[in-house]
Amino acid sequence: MSPSLSIAIIGAGLGGLTLARVLQMHGLQPVVYELESSATSRNQGGTLDMHVESGQHALRTAGVWTEFQKLVRLQGQEFKLRDNHANVVYEDDGGKGANDRPEADRGSLKQVLLDAMDVSASSRRAKPVYSGIAMVEIRHANADLNHPEIAELVGQGNNFCLHNGQCIASQRNGDGSIRTYITLRISPQEFSELKFPDAPSARSYLLAKYSDWDERLRDVIRKCDDEITPREIYALPVPHVWESKPGVTLIGDAAHLMSPFAGEGANLAMWDGAELGLALVDAIKTGKDLHTVTAEFEKRMYAMSLPKAEESAHNLTTFTSENGLEACLSFFLKISSQNP
Ligand SMILES: Cc1cc2nc3c(=O)[nH]c(=O)nc-3n(C[C@H](O)[C@H](O)[C@H](O)COP(=O)(O)OP(=O)(O)OC[C@H]3O[C@@H](n4cnc5c(N)ncnc54)[C@H](O)[C@@H]3O)c2cc1C
Repeated sequence: MSPSLSIAIIGAGLGGLTLARVLQMHGLQPVVYELESSATSRNQGGTLDMHVESGQHALRTAGVWTEFQKLVRLQGQEFKLRDNHANVVYEDDGGKGANDRPEADRGSLKQVLLDAMDVSASSRRAKPVYSGIAMVEIRHANADLNHPEIAELVGQGNNFCLHNGQCIASQRNGDGSIRTYITLRISPQEFSELKFPDAPSARSYLLAKYSDWDERLRDVIRKCDDEITPREIYALPVPHVWESKPGVTLIGDAAHLMSPFAGEGANLAMWDGAELGLALVDAIKTGKDLHTVTAEFEKRMYAMSLPKAEESAHNLTTFTSENGLEACLSFFLKISSQNP
């Protein structure tokens, strides 16, 4: 199939890898350029729930559904919402029909795509904007053994605790660890001054910020491992559109970076990769103009991602407001009533 066409993919994230895999399945040989030296050169982040219409659709299109089934954690769909006294205000064991959202670790998902491939190894954009929220990532390795009381509190899935604009969101990972994000509403200036010289000073800083929380939840901070990573949360403006140009396009975070508050970014990146791959393959087979095809794909990507970007921006504002617990509760009650 069109051996003269060269396709370069910049970035081997979930979006780029899904695209590369779909192209290879159809006989094309894209070259993937990646900054990192290997798929394990850094901590790959936490667990992702795969949504039916995007992440799951992409995994099927990329022909790795069977492999995905081997690493998926159905129990990871468990969800608990608590207040700052650790009282449960909502819980769900997950996994209902269209709301079926099996969890898999990001690193394992990337590996499934890499294993399926024969691997060889600039853009125009608006500037992403700092959302006003930072998340400090902490971990508890081998939680059942090392921290049974924290393991019990978190359970097998997600455990979100919200109070007065603050959030302690924990999730069980496939290696038995617990990963927790502690939110901070701080200015870019404050974030740049957030230089934790060592783990004890980072814990003290977070404990001071979360001083009016129940001791069981403060223990999540107090007893965390020494690997403590502050991250600023950025998003592209909503809507984010650009004039289509021949020979180049954007997918995933490069096209529609959004905060994690809707849990959609990785799912959309994979959808983009799968759909762009299929569109390119069809264009090459049928001789369609490639620029027309990428411009049409960009419109579909925009239509798919816009409502999720709006939801993510809305959730960030409401979940981190004084009434965040109520907002989060009504969000999950709405989802659960849509999928009884
Ligand atoms: C704390 C947090 C929690 C999240 N939770 C969820 C969730 O639960 N569910 C969900 O769906 N999404 C979640 N997301 C969002 C998700 O992580 C991203 O949307 C997703 O990873 C985007 O995939 P991508 O392939 O577009 O980009 P990335 O995964 O960022 O991959 C881009 C790749 O490009 C490489 N690269 C960058 N620049 C260059 C260059 N110049 N040359 C070569 N390579 C380059 C990078 O090294 C990287 O490997 C979360 C995000 C955060 C921060």
